[in-house]
Amino acid sequence: MSAAPSEPLLLTPGPLTTSRTVREAMLRDWGSRDRDFVALNAAVRRRLTALAGAEASHVTVPLQGSGTFVVEAMLGTLVPREGKLLVLVNGAYGERMLKIAACHGRASVALRTPEDVPNDPDALDRALAADPAVTHVAVVHCETTSGILNPLPAIAAVTARHGRRLLIDAMSAFGALPLDAREIRFEAVAASANKCLEGVPGVAFAIVEREALLAAAGNSPSLSLDLHDQYLAMEKNGQWRFTPPTHVLAAFQRALNEHEAEGGVEGRGRRYRENCRILVEGMRALGFATLLPDDLQAPIIVTFRMPADPAFRFEEFYDRLRRRGFVIYPGKLTVAPSFRIGCIGRIGAAEMRRALAAVAETMKEMGVASGRPAD
Ligand SMILES: *Cc1c(COP(=O)(O)O)cnc(C)c1O
Repeated sequence: MSAAPSEPLLLTPGPLTTSRTVREAMLRDWGSRDRDFVALNAAVRRRLTALAGAEASHVTVPLQGSGTFVVEAMLGTLVPREGKLLVLVNGAYGERMLKIAACHGRASVALRTPEDVPNDPDALDRALAADPAVTHVAVVHCETTSGILNPLPAIAAVTARHGRRLLIDAMSAFGALPLDAREIRFEAVAASANKCLEGVPGVAFAIVEREALLAAAGNSPSLSLDLHDQYLAMEKNGQWRFTPPTHVLAAFQRALNEHEAEGGVEGRGRRYRENCRILVEGMRALGFATLLPDDLQAPIIVTFRMPADPAFRFEEFYDRLRRRGFVIYPGKLTVAPSFRIGCIGRIGAAEMRRALAAVAETMKEMGVASGRPAD
């Protein structure tokens, strides 16, 4: 797969390695009110709604900024002032949603599991039965902190059974793991261009139930992050309220073409699963241990426990891999020292094998005999 040899491969959860053709789609300027750009924007929105199987019920509202901007916009727009948010937390992105609710002055409560344990649908069932004030449940599809896959269908079923509304942060899963509005009930899902859809950073989006969005007038504590306002303005004349990230959207359209050509969610998911399998098998052969058992691991990013060998220093490991052309990711766990390697972006089996060879050479240079962690 393509990337100039002088550019490092990003084995990170985004921004990530993109194709040359996606980057080349940015080599022209677009007038934000120009007919061509208006058509491009409408096509991107339509295709995103279709990716979630949601044309009959939902609309896509794009937003300038990184993923957090749209998560904040989703919560601020859809949880009413008198509402209450229950957040399923097993990592930093769940914690971030609690922080957003606090910033907005919305009532909220956390339902926590440890970082290496998925969200618990039975505990959610009990919590919703005990607290009728909760109007919305928020869940992180793949918690990028650890790489764990949360049980979204079960969470959605419990939430719907209690007549509450589900808000999903699917930032690091959307486009590679199935999420279909005809199969699970959700009020909104938030994601961005620069993760599994392999676009460049700068635009995020929410796919929102149209009725809920139309009913959300006046909820948002923010002007620029008001998805209701953003939607109505865009429906009126096809234009953005404020300067759109034109080049980013052009690259995003190209990235969606490449996603479709690869076989959509299924094809992209298959490549990432294969990347993940090669990575995990290869690292285990070098003695490294994953934080998660294979059945909890999403094929997005893998957390490895820090090796016990005193010759292993992460900073040096990182720098040496970087010089070999691979950028990995520090850990974000509170439970154990760790580091992460991503499986997503424009990379395939050959790149994963090269990365493993670089890890093996780096260990030899550092005098690290094995990646085995302390027990
Ligand atoms: C990347 C990510 C976000 C958004 O992070 P930004 O740095 O704002 O793009 C939110 N949730 C999850 C689960 C993510 O992986």
